[in-house]
Amino acid sequence: MSQDLYDLLGVDRDADDTAIKKAYRRLARQYHPDVNPEPEAQDKFKEISRAYEVLSDPQKRSAYDRGGDPFGGGAAGFGQGAGFSFTDIMDAFFGGHAGGGAGGGRGPRPRVRRGQDALIRLDVDLAEAAFGVTRELKVDTAVLCTTCHGDGAAPGSHPVPCETCRGQGEVAHVQRSFLGEIRTLRPCAACRGFGTIIPEPCRECSGDGRVRSRRTLTVKIPAGVDTGTRVQLAEQGEVGPGGGPAGDLYVEIQVAPHRVFTRHGNDLHCTVTVPMTAAALGTSLTLPTLEADVEQGADSGVETEFSLEIPAGTQSGTEQVLRGRGVPGLRGGRGDLVVSVAVETPQRLDARQEELLRELAAIRGEETPSGQVKPGSKSFFGRLRDAFDGH
Ligand SMILES: [Zn+2]
Ligand SMILES: [Zn+2]
Repeated sequence: MSQDLYDLLGVDRDADDTAIKKAYRRLARQYHPDVNPEPEAQDKFKEISRAYEVLSDPQKRSAYDRGGDPFGGGAAGFGQGAGFSFTDIMDAFFGGHAGGGAGGGRGPRPRVRRGQDALIRLDVDLAEAAFGVTRELKVDTAVLCTTCHGDGAAPGSHPVPCETCRGQGEVAHVQRSFLGEIRTLRPCAACRGFGTIIPEPCRECSGDGRVRSRRTLTVKIPAGVDTGTRVQLAEQGEVGPGGGPAGDLYVEIQVAPHRVFTRHGNDLHCTVTVPMTAAALGTSLTLPTLEADVEQGADSGVETEFSLEIPAGTQSGTEQVLRGRGVPGLRGGRGDLVVSVAVETPQRLDARQEELLRELAAIRGEETPSGQVKPGSKSFFGRLRDAFDGH
C-alpha cells in the first residue's frame, strides 16, 4: 500500500487531470476483474482505483503531495471503484448517462432464446468406429411445450407488459461516487428483465415454453470415427426458453478396446505369434480382418481374412505393413495394418525333439554360442537409420 500513487497509475507528478483519467481508464481496461480473470488483477485494480480516487480529487491530491495520508480521515467510500462493473466505469467515462435518458440500456431480454447444445456419449466397438454404424439412441432433452406452443401462457391468456419497468426490462439505480454519478441499469425484479409478465402461466411447462421429454433418435455414425469424435446432430439439442430454436446434439464417440487390434490414428496394429520352426522355414498364415467383426451378407464381397507370408528366417519383432488394411479415414483414404511377428520358442521338449534340436545345434556350430552383445533395443529411428545404411 506504500507504493507511490503516481507510479501506480504510471503518470508524472505534474500530470494533469486528463492524463490521470486516461491512465486510469487504460489500467481499468487491463485489470478490471470483469475483463481480467487473473486472481492478481482484482488487487491490482483496487490499488489503481485508490490511486485514482486520490489523484483525481484536487484536495486529496494536494494532501498526498504534502506527505499526508489521503486515506487517513473520513475518506468515505475509498477504493469503491472496485465495486462497480467494468461497464459502469466505462459508462461513467464515456458519458453513458448523457442526455439523462436510460442510455446504455440493453432493453428487455427476450423470452425466446436458442436452446443449449446437448452432449451424449456413445460406446461403439472398433469395427463400428472403422466402418460406420447406425444406432438408435435414447435422448432426454427439453422439447417444445405443445400446450402453449412455447409462449408460456395458459391457453386463452397472453403475456402483458410489466408495469414496474414499463416494458423496459430494466430499472435505473443512481449512485454517487468519486467517478461522478454512476447510473446502473439493473434487470427489473418484477418481470426478471423480460419486460413482460405472464399472468397465467401454462400449467404444462410452468411458463417455460418447453418440457422435458425422452425420445429415440436414429443416428448414423460415419466410418472412421475415433474416441473423442463428436457427431453433430443439428437442432436435436435442448429447445430454448420460450420455445426458442433447439441447440445441437453432439454424440461423443467412445471406442471400446479390441481383443486383437490396437488403433494408432488410422493404422491398426496386431501381433501374430509363430513357432520358431515356422519362422525359420517360412510359412503362410490366414488371419481375420477387422471386417470379420461386422456381420456381412454372403455376397458382400468384403474380405474377412487375409493371408500373411512369413518368409524363411523371420526374426521376432519383424513388422509387416499391409497397406490400406487399417481404418478408413473420416475424410477418405485408409490406414495400414501393421503386423508384428513374435517368434515362439518351444518350452517343453520330449526326448526326440531335444535330440533333433541338439543335432541341429551341432550341425550349425551353435552348441556353445558366445552370445552377441549389442546396444539396447533399437528405437524406430535407429531401425530407420539401419535401413538407410543398408544393414
Ligand atoms: Zn406450456
Ligand atoms: Zn419489469
